[in-house]
Amino acid sequence: MKTSEIRQRFLDFFAERGHLVQPSSSLLYNDPTLLFVNAGMVPMKPYFLGEEQPPARTLASVQKCVRTLDIEEVGKTTRHGTFFQMCGNFSFGEYFKSGAIQHAWDLITTAQDAGGLGFDPDTIWVTVLEGDDEAAGLWREIAGLPAERIQARGLLDNYWHMGVPGPGGPNSEIYVDRGPAYGPDGGPVVDEDRFLEIWNLVFMQYELSAVRAKDDFDVMRPLPKPQIDTGAGLERIAYLLQGVDNLYEIDEIYPVIGRAVELSGRQYGTDHDDDVRLRVVADHVRSALMLMADGVTPGNEARGYVLRRLLRRSVRAMRLLGVTDRVLPELLPVSRDLMGLSYPEVLQSWERISQAAYAEEDAFRRTLVAGTQLFEGAVRTARTEQRDTLAGEQVFQLHDTYGFPYDLTLEMAAEQGLQVDREGFAALMREQRDRAKADARAKKGAGQNLEAYSAVRADGETPFLGYTELLTETTV
Ligand code: ATP
Ligand code: MG
Ligand code: MG
Ligand code: MG
Repeated sequence: MKTSEIRQRFLDFFAERGHLVQPSSSLLYNDPTLLFVNAGMVPMKPYFLGEEQPPARTLASVQKCVRTLDIEEVGKTTRHGTFFQMCGNFSFGEYFKSGAIQHAWDLITTAQDAGGLGFDPDTIWVTVLEGDDEAAGLWREIAGLPAERIQARGLLDNYWHMGVPGPGGPNSEIYVDRGPAYGPDGGPVVDEDRFLEIWNLVFMQYELSAVRAKDDFDVMRPLPKPQIDTGAGLERIAYLLQGVDNLYEIDEIYPVIGRAVELSGRQYGTDHDDDVRLRVVADHVRSALMLMADGVTPGNEARGYVLRRLLRRSVRAMRLLGVTDRVLPELLPVSRDLMGLSYPEVLQSWERISQAAYAEEDAFRRTLVAGTQLFEGAVRTARTEQRDTLAGEQVFQLHDTYGFPYDLTLEMAAEQGLQVDREGFAALMREQRDRAKADARAKKGAGQNLEAYSAVRADGETPFLGYTELLTETTV
């Protein structure tokens, strides 16, 4: 089944069961605690908090999500995209645990020709919160799961809340066993891909007061009307049903790998590092496209910076695959044709998207040319001085003046058999940060210095700061 068919099947299944289908919100849904929408429930938050009346007591959606926290996982695990689609069904006081489990079980195990997803019931495992005997009992009764395949976990894994006083409750996660080729027996293990987490059912059951940490909070009272929030990973279901190895090989993503393979002349599936790079390219190109379709432009502040990082990481990964020509004009249209089917905003904004993306690649290419010259100078200095380490100062200059990505410096140094003075670099970064903070304090209240602003603009290129500066992302 194509990803878009699974998406539609999910919505049809819940519509037939009385749920009102909601369109996906923009990735930029207005929630001040979040950089991007990172779960299906984000646009439903006001309903869960009782601030607004939901349009119906049961809703279903397939929500666009971006999780920058997962960026380092991309291509290395089989299951993490920076952009993905979360399928969810929601109940505001209508059904609770038994309904949520019944719906999920029916959709997962009903045969495909009867409207379900057709997973083999014998491959399904679940986790529940330790002590949630009700959920464990329902999994036995409704799904007939044997005790071994209902595993209890602690608060860290199986309790959900928003990190602040408000609703919260135990959750139950559904996993598919991919078989012994993917890892050891015994059930879901954190960070392994044999038992693939596909769906998280959250039973919002209590009102929490003091929330000190994920696993440290006070339960004030049961909610008058318990609520259900669920999230299933569309791409994860797709790669299982399409019989491919990982998320990046589904119909909505793989053609970008295919194009990158053509451009680079490398083969997919022969070299681990190349495979990771190809998967990073395909993932990042798609995420960048979807962010731009929702109005993000590359820049140095939070959202724009994430986009810039995605675009530059794609270009960089292609360079590491040996392609030095412009790549985005080759890759982005492939992703547009795939995503435009489900998301017309991609097609509507294509002019704007492609112009911004290609301009960003050109700027980055100029950075790379200038930075590479400086890098080669640093290598020569190190060799003349018979050092096997690049000086922290030069690495910092590369980063600071040329916007040369630190991780690229590391990789290029390694290719030359050289180390990088990481501590020296980190110390200079710290100094720079402290200086910036002090400057900001000094400027506060001094009025706006527009001259400095126009000076930067007149200069043309805005220096790209902070590949290594950590982004903060609040998750719900
Ligand atoms: P994992 O443990 O695999 O990182 P998670 O527990 O962080 O997943 P949830 O927050 O429970 O994920 O999100 C609900 C569902 O969304 C998951 O069960 C999964 O199917 C899907 N999902 C979460 N993160 C991603 C991602 N980065 N890429 C693709 N799908 C994802
Ligand atoms: Mg995760
Ligand atoms: Mg998980
Ligand atoms: Mg989960």
